[in-house]
Amino acid sequence: MTDGRRARERPRHIVIVGGGITGLAAARALEHRVKGALRVTLLEGSDRLGGNILTVRHNGFTVDAGPDSWVSSKPEASKLAEDVGLGEDIIATQEGSRKVYILAGGKLLPLPEGFVLGIPTEMGPVFKSGLFSWDEIARMGLDYFVPRRTTDEDESVADFLSRRLGDPIVDRIAGPLLGGIFAGDARTISVRAAFPQFVAAEAKYGSLIKAMQAARKARLDTKDGKDGSAFVSLKGGMSDLVTATAHLLKIADVRKGERVTGIGRAEEGDPRGRFAISTGKEVLFADDVVLAIPPVIARKLLAELSPAFDGLYEGLRAHSTATVFLGYRARSVSHPLDATGFIVPAQEKRPILASTWVTSKWEHRAPAGHVMLRVFLGGANGEGVLDADDYALVAIARRQLAEIMDITALPVFSRVFRWDHASPQMNVGHLERLKAIKKKLEEFPGLYVAANGYQGTGIPDCIKQGNEVADVIAASPAPS
Ligand SMILES: Cc1cc2nc3c(=O)[nH]c(=O)nc-3n(C[C@H](O)[C@H](O)[C@H](O)COP(=O)(O)OP(=O)(O)OC[C@H]3O[C@@H](n4cnc5c(N)ncnc54)[C@H](O)[C@@H]3O)c2cc1C
Repeated sequence: MTDGRRARERPRHIVIVGGGITGLAAARALEHRVKGALRVTLLEGSDRLGGNILTVRHNGFTVDAGPDSWVSSKPEASKLAEDVGLGEDIIATQEGSRKVYILAGGKLLPLPEGFVLGIPTEMGPVFKSGLFSWDEIARMGLDYFVPRRTTDEDESVADFLSRRLGDPIVDRIAGPLLGGIFAGDARTISVRAAFPQFVAAEAKYGSLIKAMQAARKARLDTKDGKDGSAFVSLKGGMSDLVTATAHLLKIADVRKGERVTGIGRAEEGDPRGRFAISTGKEVLFADDVVLAIPPVIARKLLAELSPAFDGLYEGLRAHSTATVFLGYRARSVSHPLDATGFIVPAQEKRPILASTWVTSKWEHRAPAGHVMLRVFLGGANGEGVLDADDYALVAIARRQLAEIMDITALPVFSRVFRWDHASPQMNVGHLERLKAIKKKLEEFPGLYVAANGYQGTGIPDCIKQGNEVADVIAASPAPS
């Protein structure tokens, strides 16, 4: 029997590197979509699946240490949750506390009613909010008249919004809100890559306010998510999505504690596969490889295949953050917790990015008589603070909550989670960089990248990429 014949007789072997939600979604989709004999191996470097998704339970508190939800208007995450039997567990944000505060001059002011993605859809509440002067509001109104941009050139989210609505709304609301999604800086994030809906809205309506009015109406009419909630989560915490997805994998051999240290091309015609993947413990051969790991890590592995990748990935940077969770007896917090939390514009010059009032945003997160708050630190404008140790981060979070909300009580528990380079930045020029990376990857048939930070940053974007990579593999002929 020749090597070639043996190659055709064995199942197609696909190795997925990374057991975050992208890798798991890809594994599930491959099992459903690839026809013919199939072998899938998923290699996860750490001792747990989920990557950024991590739910920790502590004395009746349910702590979503990384993501706490997904945006309901992007269907992929809700669809996956339903498919893996968690449809009944999807929860909406609590209706009575869907507002958000903005820190302005050290005070918490409610984000005026009707804002969609940081854009006003009603001017009445903006007038009443006290956040803007008459001149500033008049400048926002010019959005109806500012001509559409005619070039295809990329620009930052901040430049785009300033052009249409003026600087103050960018500095005080839209910048911190939209930049905050990336733990980034709206002045560097690409509008075309991160918020293509704004670009499409400008082209279609010639006005962002008009476009967001239409989007809001459509959302209220169709009631995305549960009860029209913009974000949804899972009753038992976000890790349930990881556990249920992994549990239902039928073919995939999921191996934890197997960090991939190198990927090479196998010899031409090697019957064992096109790629040799080293984990330090063994070398696996695969016909296809999906790198479902953060771009900053993929860069190092790919650069070994071709040094050109190093330069192509140069612009795909990532910021680090930390989340600090503080649990309190409800009676020791007198500040009303009547919102999902607050965001902190950079101009407030504080060492925190935002705070989520977890137990106001979600049910099922704390034992009776207790509340939990989360404080975000780090990101584009504050990574220096992360040099502090965990005790110091808790102290910083407590001091900020004391100054802003007058919470001085001792927490009943505190936990710090660090997210090193876990917030990829889709900076201006991102789509061009992506195109160049895809083009280079064509020189390596069977090698794919999919993860947070390539095409979108949220959980639905990751699941979508996992599904899409499975579609591409399913449509490509198995190598002979
Ligand atoms: C603090 C924080 C809050 C967030 N909040 C939200 C939110 O509320 N909603 C939302 O939609 N998104 C949120 N996100 C983004 C969301 O978490 C990510 O988009 C998503 O979880 C990324 O999934 P992934 O599988 O692409 O990557 P990851 O979760 O990073 O998973 C990659 C996996 O690959 C493994 N790995 C890395 N290198 C190797 C290697 N060499 N070999 C083998 N395995 C390797 C890692 O251990 C990890 O398990 C948040 C992110 C952070 C950091």
